[in-house]
Amino acid sequence: MITRSPMLLHCSQPPGDRDLPETGAWQRQLAGAIRDPRALCQRLGLDPSLLPGAESGHALFEVRVPEAFARRMHPGDPADPLLRQVLPLEAESDISPGYVTDPLDEAEHTARRGLIHKYASRVLLIASPTCAINCRYCFRRHFPYHDNAPSRAQWDESLDYLRADPQLREAILSGGDPLAASDRQLAWLVERLDAIPHLKRLRLHSRLPVVIPDRVDGALLDWLASTRLQKVMVLHINHANEIDDAVIAACNRLRHIGVTLLNQSVILRGVNDDVDSLEQLSERLFEAGILPYYLHAFDPVVGAAHFDVDDARAQQLVAELRTRLPGFLMPALVREVPGGASKTPL
Ligand code: SF4
Repeated sequence: MITRSPMLLHCSQPPGDRDLPETGAWQRQLAGAIRDPRALCQRLGLDPSLLPGAESGHALFEVRVPEAFARRMHPGDPADPLLRQVLPLEAESDISPGYVTDPLDEAEHTARRGLIHKYASRVLLIASPTCAINCRYCFRRHFPYHDNAPSRAQWDESLDYLRADPQLREAILSGGDPLAASDRQLAWLVERLDAIPHLKRLRLHSRLPVVIPDRVDGALLDWLASTRLQKVMVLHINHANEIDDAVIAACNRLRHIGVTLLNQSVILRGVNDDVDSLEQLSERLFEAGILPYYLHAFDPVVGAAHFDVDDARAQQLVAELRTRLPGFLMPALVREVPGGASKTPL
């Protein structure tokens, strides 16, 4: 039988209690993240001439980089593919025709505060207005999170919306980063989603297990393991160097409780727009028990034009990649077209 369902990758060794991160470690790391361009330049030993540009970009979208992510960068290298994703630049002030603040037209699809309903079978809930890391290319870098942070009463309205639509099969927790919310809040929400009979799946879109692997601690595993819903986590990793031993251990903990792990990347100039980087990324993802899912064409968001890779180049890279990888390690190259009934393959 031909199926397009992602397979569940099993790990052979269950993690013991001693492998779990210390409770509260992730909140301390989140609170201690680098939030200042000068501190980032100093931490990476960068040339001070980069600082004025970094400060002007920071004024538009603040710097946020957890230490666990910074330590995977090569000191002194402004072209490091991880640093490129988080270092603000003067170029973010450039005005580029065709670049907008809401490239996916999400405002059009906001059915309730914090609830985006684009596709018939699934809804996206903004479970947290913040991220653990601020990625310079983010298509939500201008998203009005404060207009979309629901109160408890508004969450009840959103849950009523889900209960009333039997076509829905999947709830997607997104953000910001949903795992930036507390375990208490997430457990409250997931318990209520669990009680909606027509929902089959819970999907989380998160970068936290990558940038602060200690986020995958006992408290998270407890509420996530308790739901009857099938669990899918879509991670966001753009380069093989993002995956270190701590990330692999966090992935093992998630897989051990039955979470299917997928990855989506964005094709980004100067980060992964060459076939060697894309090949290494797919190989490394599989070593970590994660299946490549989507390679997103760049979304034209104001402030990030310097990351743009045109569609012809992206298609050429994917064609070359196909000659190097088995089909199950090939991410689908897609673009999200505002108003489309699904993602559009390129
Ligand atoms: S939503 Fe995702 S891509 Fe955007 S800044 Fe947060 S972690 Fe990065």
